[in-house]
Amino acid sequence: MDFPPYPSGLRLAGRRVVVVGGGNVAQRRVPQLIAVGADVHVVSPEVTPAIEGLVGSGEITWHRRPFADADLAGAWYVIAVTDDLAVNDRVSELAEQERVFCVRSDDATRGSAWTPAVGRHAGVTVAVLSNREPRRSVAVRDEILEALREGTIAGSHEHDRTPGVTLVGGGPGDPDLISIAGRKALMAADVVVADRLAPRELLGDLPADVELVDVAKLPRGRSAQQAEINRVIVERALAGKRVVRFKGGDNFVFGRGYEEIIACREAGVPVTVIPGLTSPVAVPAIAGIPVTHRGVTHEFTIVSGHLPPGHPESLVDYAALARMTGTVILMMAVQNASAIADALVAGGRKPGTPVAVVCDGTMPTQRTVLATLATLGPCLADEQVQPPAIIVIGEVVRVAFPDAFPPVVDSDG
Ligand code: SAH
Repeated sequence: MDFPPYPSGLRLAGRRVVVVGGGNVAQRRVPQLIAVGADVHVVSPEVTPAIEGLVGSGEITWHRRPFADADLAGAWYVIAVTDDLAVNDRVSELAEQERVFCVRSDDATRGSAWTPAVGRHAGVTVAVLSNREPRRSVAVRDEILEALREGTIAGSHEHDRTPGVTLVGGGPGDPDLISIAGRKALMAADVVVADRLAPRELLGDLPADVELVDVAKLPRGRSAQQAEINRVIVERALAGKRVVRFKGGDNFVFGRGYEEIIACREAGVPVTVIPGLTSPVAVPAIAGIPVTHRGVTHEFTIVSGHLPPGHPESLVDYAALARMTGTVILMMAVQNASAIADALVAGGRKPGTPVAVVCDGTMPTQRTVLATLATLGPCLADEQVQPPAIIVIGEVVRVAFPDAFPPVVDSDG
């Protein structure tokens, strides 16, 4: 008779757990054991580099030798994950004698415990065991977690009702590129204050009773609009609501996020920050351009080009930027790109320096326009480039598109 397992939540904090074996299966189990505070001992002549890293940081103890019977002394739980059947047999046999529960990776039927597919959400641990169908367990776990996140089963909507403001960075536009924490916060909000560039598709998933404040519809004018946003988020939070300030990319990258933090602090409203994938890094990546490349650049500089070079209010030192050699990434710069390219050439960058303009990054309309510093202005006009766009300047563009640019000739050589 094949009985089902009896589920139990083991509290392993501070308790000795022995992992016999140091390969890929051990590498998956060990972090889970560390996360619950177990006193983890890995017994194996060799371990993977990832496990070695955990030894180096003092999170686990490594016994660099084959398994010995004495290893189970004082253990509460043992995991046998070597690729040697005889060793795993010896471990489970001894564990049986010593009455230590034993998990076996090679043959689950010969162990006395099974590892469920585990997930956590807002203080709830979900553990799923099937009849030795690990993929099915994982699929069921994922569906439960998803339902918890979305509030279709009693999840965070019922539990975490603490009022306050959360700044959520939504990433560059594709709704899949928000973080899990960001999505959770969004789905648990009472009020969402969203920007034009925030990934708007996600707003369609919000529960019907959520108040959506569309910043694009607030009165225009930079400072008036920001003052109104600050007022709205503070007022709603003081009224006991959970407010999410939802922006494209990361709220602190040309996103005025810190002004909102200051406004909340002054009003005594608690604020949390959930970072987002910022477009100056993510958009080039999606377009196949690395912002750094070994042997090519040791720096990348992200610049707001919303003011032209020489503008009295500009805080950018274009002469210094021109003297540097690495990648320059321009944001909000479609309007001033030509003047900026001229300033960089005037300051010493080669007119033939490759440039890539990535428009509507991660969106269905995404496209990349290639140019050089010398041709950037006319190119943007010919191609009728409209914001939002990220402009990448430097040799990394040649790395990504070697056929589009002539090879570099070393003029000193
Ligand atoms: N906080 C945002 C940036 C806001 S400034 C972030 O971290 O990404 C707005 C500028 O960001 C735009 O003018 C454009 O230069 C850039 N940008 C944002 N999303 C973009 C996208 N999907 N594609 C191209 N550029 C984008």
